[in-house]
Amino acid sequence: MSLSCFELGERMLSVDEALDALRELAPNSLESESVSLSASLDRVLAEDAISPIDVPQNTNAAMDGIAMSWPGDNGQTRFALQGEVLAGSRFDGRLSPGQAVTITTGAPLPEGADTVIMSEQLLWAQEESQEGVGRWVEVQQADRVRRGQNVREAGEDIPRGTKALSAGTRLKPQHLGLLASLGMIEARVVRRPRVAIFSTGDEVTAPGETLPAAGIFDSNRFSLHGLLTRLGCEVIDLGILADDFTYIRGALEEATQKADMVITSGGVSVGQADLTRKALDDTGRLGFWRIAIRPGRPLAFGTLGEHEIPFFGLPGNPVAVMVTFLQFVQPLLRTLLGEHQWQPRRLTAIADEPLQSRQGRVDFLRGVYACDDQGRLHVRTTGRQGSGILSSMVAANCLIEIEAARAGVAQGETVTLQPFGELT
Ligand code: AMP
Ligand code: MG
Repeated sequence: MSLSCFELGERMLSVDEALDALRELAPNSLESESVSLSASLDRVLAEDAISPIDVPQNTNAAMDGIAMSWPGDNGQTRFALQGEVLAGSRFDGRLSPGQAVTITTGAPLPEGADTVIMSEQLLWAQEESQEGVGRWVEVQQADRVRRGQNVREAGEDIPRGTKALSAGTRLKPQHLGLLASLGMIEARVVRRPRVAIFSTGDEVTAPGETLPAAGIFDSNRFSLHGLLTRLGCEVIDLGILADDFTYIRGALEEATQKADMVITSGGVSVGQADLTRKALDDTGRLGFWRIAIRPGRPLAFGTLGEHEIPFFGLPGNPVAVMVTFLQFVQPLLRTLLGEHQWQPRRLTAIADEPLQSRQGRVDFLRGVYACDDQGRLHVRTTGRQGSGILSSMVAANCLIEIEAARAGVAQGETVTLQPFGELT
């Protein structure tokens, strides 16, 4: 049974319950568009790529040398050369057993040829006979030659008509190369989600402005901008909003007109929550969640407008913003992008120090992991773990994820970590 995100109420949710509810909300990906292959890097493929050709197109030589038609078990070590095939050309004739041609790497094997011998194993000779000058090769260490060696079969990489890449693949350089090898010049990709972001808080000040005595510079909009850009979203930056019902409602209404998702930070902690909740209730349906996670409580989640655009009200603390984005916003955006099976990458490492956590909630600590000379991963924290200490994210190369069932981790025990990667 799946939970609607609006039926969850004020109960404390497990991380998995919250992720399930999110999946319910965005079952389909966004529409697709065609972009040139070189512009498709980091985009998500919208449909399977089926190969229209065999790759490689022809059975071809994997080495420079000779291609020959296997002579049988007659011990033949000397071969008459019938011509040469260079990459990009073809040999028109057919080789009979015991005949050979010189060949370069990648050139198609002549008909009848089945074996390639590399040039380092050959002695070349010319011989005059009644028919003129003939070219020959003598094979060294002929007992090492195996029938069929050094040959790349047509279609051995990708046979014609088979799936070369699956829908939902985020295109890396190797994927671009592979699509190009099929002759494609465009890729059908999921369009970029448009994500509106704003910060809230009377104390929150835009960098570049004078910092008031009780002010704090707005870091959240910039870390969110970076995370969203790396994920392939178009960011609509709506700036900073004072803790004011009318402003917040106005911004939300504006955002629902042009965004596929709206993310705010701040203004969801006790006291301010009522204000945000009221503004959100006016423009959409809101569920406030208490997820058993640290940092990252509370988190507002719901939909806005008649098109039910997903909304996240992230906490205000800069580390909590990044952690909740990575754990909850990211999976939903990836679903919208068609990456339906996405999971964070996880590794296991030995804790080099005792780690604090509380049973019943997932604790995310900022960590630094490294490999020892025996190939084992070790991890320690970056030190102070306050959810406002953004320098702990800067010093880290992973999040240490301590499962809800564990009360703490002793030195030498293993822990799960999520290495920083694509986004961080
Ligand atoms: P709030 O959830 O609004 O109570 O904010 C929690 C903490 O995060 C407070 O110390 C805020 O000053 C801080 N905070 C809120 N928004 C931002 C922001 N955009 N950039 C940096 N810090 C913020
Ligand atoms: Mg605030």
